[in-house]
Amino acid sequence: MPCPNLQIKKNLIREGRAARLLHPWIFSGAISQAPSGIEPGSVVRVTDAAGEFVGYGHFNPLSSIAVRLLSFDEDKFPDNAFFFEKIRDSIMRRRGFPIRSDARRLIFSESDLLPGLIVDRYASVHVVQTLTAGMDRIKGEICSAIAEIDGAETIIERNDCEIRKLEGLEPRKSVLMGKAPEPEAILIHENNFRFELEPFSGQKTGFYMDQRENRAAVASYVAPGMEMLDCFSFSGGFSVYASGAGAASLTLLDESESSLALARRNLSNNPGSAKTTVFIRANAFKALREFRDSRKSFDMIILDPPKFAPSSSDVEKAYRAYKDINLFALKLLKPGGILATFSCSSGFQRQKFFEVLCAASRDAGRCVSIVSSLTQACDHPIRIGFPESEYLKGFILKALD
Ligand code: SAH
Repeated sequence: MPCPNLQIKKNLIREGRAARLLHPWIFSGAISQAPSGIEPGSVVRVTDAAGEFVGYGHFNPLSSIAVRLLSFDEDKFPDNAFFFEKIRDSIMRRRGFPIRSDARRLIFSESDLLPGLIVDRYASVHVVQTLTAGMDRIKGEICSAIAEIDGAETIIERNDCEIRKLEGLEPRKSVLMGKAPEPEAILIHENNFRFELEPFSGQKTGFYMDQRENRAAVASYVAPGMEMLDCFSFSGGFSVYASGAGAASLTLLDESESSLALARRNLSNNPGSAKTTVFIRANAFKALREFRDSRKSFDMIILDPPKFAPSSSDVEKAYRAYKDINLFALKLLKPGGILATFSCSSGFQRQKFFEVLCAASRDAGRCVSIVSSLTQACDHPIRIGFPESEYLKGFILKALD
């Protein structure tokens, strides 16, 4: 199919580099010749400096990521049939994954060769995010494909995210297909637990499915009778698992009242061993200090904060924030206690997070060892050659004193 040609400065293909293994982004500074007058979201044909075909991609002259490569085969132009096939492949791949839940991420952007597209399924509700102009343009076709392949009844768009601004897109929240659930909260089943979530008003697309495997991993360290602090608890996922594993006392801490209310419902929907459950609405930075001042201590602490470093330019600020909460959490840990600590910032790399923990352990005067290294769940895969797709880092630390 004829489409505008865009040339990049580097000579890639003649050097024997397989285009499909290249990083799928082309920055505006890497372009030697770009077509003019092309609408954001159009498909372009990319060639290298020697004129060799690299791939087809979505072009957006407004973004510094000018092209996101979609197809690396000259005969496979990204038309509707191409996207249908890629969407089907992504959904089918998941069917072979070890996911014990009726909620899963069906499409994870570049990691599923569909840059800019995220699709989550919560029981009978599908939630879509089109984060690039290219994907936003074909939203209707995407919905039809999901309905046909995965039997979607209700499709909601949660395009109320900041990142769309970089593509010149407005924030949007709407029902694209079917009827919005009434009442809004829907129920999902994850491992042996039941969770309510709010796909229209909740955080992200409603639930942190990327922590599914980590909730189970952390619960395997719970011993009967433990006192746990679930800091940044949101809908209480870690607490529900811990109570199921024998924890005696739970303290959930979040600055959002609606998140605590949701966590309260999730705990009452999953009868567990916890005898005492305390919900604290507070800023974690302040609350951790207050616990220290009142000499409070815990057998297990979860730290699962929001993104402190949305991009690599925030690394220094994020370092200080991660250091602060990890330092105080280590001070609050009982002898032999467990700290499960996470960073979900893609701009903050695993090595940097490890350095934070070294510094926090030194300053807290606590000797700890890593008993487990954690990452995002299997339906949020990390694409080799695309390091930006690794965003969730976690460690389970055990105090040696
Ligand atoms: N652990 C959760 C996900 C946490 S998301 C799960 O497994 O589902 C991060 C949470 O941190 C959000 O609920 C948000 O309301 C809360 N939060 C953000 N900043 C905070 C702060 N400074 N103090 C306390 N809570 C905060």
